[in-house]
Amino acid sequence: MLNRIDLRGVDTDPRGLLPRARLDVSQAVETIRPLVEAVREHGFSAVQEATTNFDGVTLDELRVPPETIKAAEQSLDPDVRAALLEAIARARRVHEDQRRQDTTTQVVRGGTVTERWVPVERVGLYVPGGLAMYPSTVVMNVVPAQVAGVDALVVVSPPQKDNNGLPDQRVLAACALLGVDEVYAVGGAQAIAMLGHGSTTNAAGTGVCRPVDIITGPGNVWVTAAKRLLRSGGTVGIDAEAGPTEIAVLADDTADPGHVAADLISQAEHDPLAASVLVTPSERLVDAVDAELATRVAVTKHTGRITAALTGEQSGTVLVDDLDQGLRVVDAYAAEHLEIQTRDARAIAMRVRNAGAVFVGPYAPVSLGDYCAGSNHVLPTGGCARHSSGLSVQSFLRGIHIIEYDEPALREAAPHVVTLATVEDLPAHGEAVTARFSA
Ligand code: NAD
Repeated sequence: MLNRIDLRGVDTDPRGLLPRARLDVSQAVETIRPLVEAVREHGFSAVQEATTNFDGVTLDELRVPPETIKAAEQSLDPDVRAALLEAIARARRVHEDQRRQDTTTQVVRGGTVTERWVPVERVGLYVPGGLAMYPSTVVMNVVPAQVAGVDALVVVSPPQKDNNGLPDQRVLAACALLGVDEVYAVGGAQAIAMLGHGSTTNAAGTGVCRPVDIITGPGNVWVTAAKRLLRSGGTVGIDAEAGPTEIAVLADDTADPGHVAADLISQAEHDPLAASVLVTPSERLVDAVDAELATRVAVTKHTGRITAALTGEQSGTVLVDDLDQGLRVVDAYAAEHLEIQTRDARAIAMRVRNAGAVFVGPYAPVSLGDYCAGSNHVLPTGGCARHSSGLSVQSFLRGIHIIEYDEPALREAAPHVVTLATVEDLPAHGEAVTARFSA
């Protein structure tokens, strides 16, 4: 079922040889640019028009009334409530440990630099709602922002035709459980534009969504493109680009083919563009996983999009000589989710350089991390794990340096400042220091 790529005996950089979606975010940026501009210029009417076109509902008011959010919590199934509360508690435990302490460095006698970690003021959190509903993504966005101490949290999520144009009921209930009451029924690029530029939320102009400082959260290619566009214009900050989901499994002949197949399917379930990649030196495992896939895909619920994802150019099996080459391959791929199903899995995991998150051994499937391992599931995709991390408390903080020097300390540094200012032909920089010491 999976495409096979044989890299045995190939010792060149594997990057260009690996399965990867030719998902052209740059092209999508050009497609959504007029829409983002229209939202900036016209606010509500542009958001409303895009929502009618792409979501098939026409809304007169984009903001979800706070009492509707509360009501969603009250009607929540008890098991779902318990699972969400457990996911929230575990995520809080992990994210609270990410809090950074301010530090003060005594550089010289009389001269210190303090680094203060300060939360951004207002953040926009995108919760997808196209092919699947993601109350879990509410948890993954909101918990780190709250732990960071952000003042104002805004959630946007697509309106659902079968919920009277409101976001999914479970998404609203998760917002209520976390105490978030500013929620808008807007999805796609139009939601990102509204968060970045601010917008009126009804035709009368009586409601307004103020612009945010940072937008986080995963989404489809239109969401990712809009985030990239707004960031490049300097309008807002964003987290890493978190597009269609990816799983890579590095496995040897000790891996259970049924488990490997189940995990590859679990991520293919997100989206026909999702990527599932198996990297292994064991040809026997490849055959066994393929057989398991054939059986399991036929009987699972979302057969159509899973088949599309598994047979797409972005998915496949990569045969390698050994686990050392396997590690080079998974580092080159830089998967959003990487599972290690090998002998000495922990030791292998500790050698991984590039991945959004690493799941170690037979009892840590990616689905656990999707919901309630405590780790964050908003993770970099498309190779961005080479340079970016997943969402964390740090995503919502800025380090501000506070510089305090007394007179003797500045006098001591003065010659060095003057020398470097002269080298850079910026003499006024030096003069700003010496002016303090001339009679
Ligand atoms: P989504 O909310 O991202 O997209 C649905 C929205 O797209 C709709 O509101 C619609 O208005 C908009 N849209 C559709 N066509 C458009 C167009 N031509 N222009 C502008 N907007 C348009 O939901 P989805 O489609 O289900 O995608 C969610 C994605 O998020 C999946 O690919 C999933 O794999 C991914 N995901 C990633 C992570 C991660 O951490 N990387 C986590 C969860 C989900």
